[in-house]
Amino acid sequence: MSSRIYRGARVVDPARNIDQIMDIAVSDGVFVDPGTVKDAPVVDLTGYVLAPGFIDLHVHLRQPGKTDAETIHTGTLAAAAGGFTAVVAMPNTNPCADNPGTIHYIRTYAQAEGVVKVLPCGAITKGLEGQEMAGIGGLKAAGVVALSDDGKCVQNHELMRHVIEYSRTFRLPILDHCEDTVLASGGVMHEGHWSVFLGMKGMAAAAEELIVARDAILARTANWKVHIQHVSTKGSLSIIRTAQKEGIQITAEATPHHIALTDVEIKKFDTNYKMNPPLRSEADRLAVIEGLRDGTITVIATDHAPHTNTAKTVEFDYAPFGIIGLETALPVCFTELYHKGYLDLPALISKFTKGPAEVLGMPLGTLENGRPADITILDPEREGVVDAEKFHSKSRNTPFNGYRYKGCAVATVVDGKCVFSLLDALKKD
Ligand SMILES: [Zn+2]
Repeated sequence: MSSRIYRGARVVDPARNIDQIMDIAVSDGVFVDPGTVKDAPVVDLTGYVLAPGFIDLHVHLRQPGKTDAETIHTGTLAAAAGGFTAVVAMPNTNPCADNPGTIHYIRTYAQAEGVVKVLPCGAITKGLEGQEMAGIGGLKAAGVVALSDDGKCVQNHELMRHVIEYSRTFRLPILDHCEDTVLASGGVMHEGHWSVFLGMKGMAAAAEELIVARDAILARTANWKVHIQHVSTKGSLSIIRTAQKEGIQITAEATPHHIALTDVEIKKFDTNYKMNPPLRSEADRLAVIEGLRDGTITVIATDHAPHTNTAKTVEFDYAPFGIIGLETALPVCFTELYHKGYLDLPALISKFTKGPAEVLGMPLGTLENGRPADITILDPEREGVVDAEKFHSKSRNTPFNGYRYKGCAVATVVDGKCVFSLLDALKKD
């Protein structure tokens, strides 16, 4: 493979506290010292921001099992168009990713048809049933980067304690969807003013908070990492903040929809606002933003959950939970967090690079020489309107169709190869 020098961009690499205009050079798919490839072609990125490749810790690619909603190919095309160079694929496929065979299948398809890196996540329990631990050693050997029963939540505390202890042995982080299933049972939206007003069954904030507290206590007991997926309530943030102050290894992610939207939207009865955890109150939304600001939340992840129109075009009560997010995450986060003054550029970029790389404990999310040349090029000032019909994803279930944004990714480079570009200076390889 050839060499290339990216010149003129504001380079932001939060893992190394870099924020300056400088050359970034790539040769044979890795970052190198620009001095070693002096004759390489130069890409002029004056006016743009060059960041380490963005990592999404929370994506449902639906393959195997639901390829009418998404495939590894279309999901990774959407990721590239959204500025992501690596996605962690949740295990609730069919068959479920609770065994080495399914992980092998996902890795084989990702190798052949993936546009960006697919990092498989293994199941915590067999069949995501919360009864019996999956074969964690076999999953690790097959190449999983984390464990999760996302969509479900292990209710048995003793089992969860052992899972965290085992995962420490294998150096795998646990990514937990926190939900007390009895307390949240039958709910379709946040329990609060709007659920009462609309006469719909609510999901109490306490259902999330109880399990966040459980996980913090078990992380302390096992002395290992637990990462809280899609944190959505003020109470959860307060528990996580306190646990972190005590030195417990607990991290958290927020989704763009919990940053931008609240439960008032449910009055539209549009199933593209139905997800789990549900859109919460304004106080919860502001607490999530405060958590991002003060560093309690180190990761922004999409929870990209494709569903076909057929599946979502039903009464609110019967619709499946989940929305897609790969192609709207950056436009929404630039607009809601950067342009509203909550996060500066290095802080925002850190939530997609340094933050997720630290959760995984992987050598990603930085532009350091010798590392794989994964790059996201950003234009914080580019304005546009989200048009779901133009998505690369196979699904259209988004609440952000028609959303006016300022700021997005304009090019994506994986292992030195340009896989998406809106720029004249940089063509797709
Ligand atoms: Zn989830």
